[in-house]
Amino acid sequence: MKHLHDLPELQLQEHTFPEQTDIGLRPTGYEIRMPDTGEWLMTNQEMFAAWLGDRRVWGIPYHGPVYASGTRTIYTGSRLCGCSVCQMNVNPKDKPN
Ligand SMILES: [Zn+2]
Repeated sequence: MKHLHDLPELQLQEHTFPEQTDIGLRPTGYEIRMPDTGEWLMTNQEMFAAWLGDRRVWGIPYHGPVYASGTRTIYTGSRLCGCSVCQMNVNPKDKPN
């Protein structure tokens, strides 16, 4: 009987999972804007996908769905940006008037 930790595929995944420090060392192109300072911060894809504020990819403004952190579930709460793309998945009750 094999145990989970005996499977080579799982061990490989552990080794290839990106380190936290990769964010600072390797540019991803994914940038999020800090609401307090207005400063753009390079981040990883997961944080970018879940960010509710302004986003851009390689300096180009990005408008699209926001996902619940670490999932592929689309966030349907209110969004700051009022454009049609960002508002597409927002609950009708959370849309701006
Ligand atoms: Zn937008």
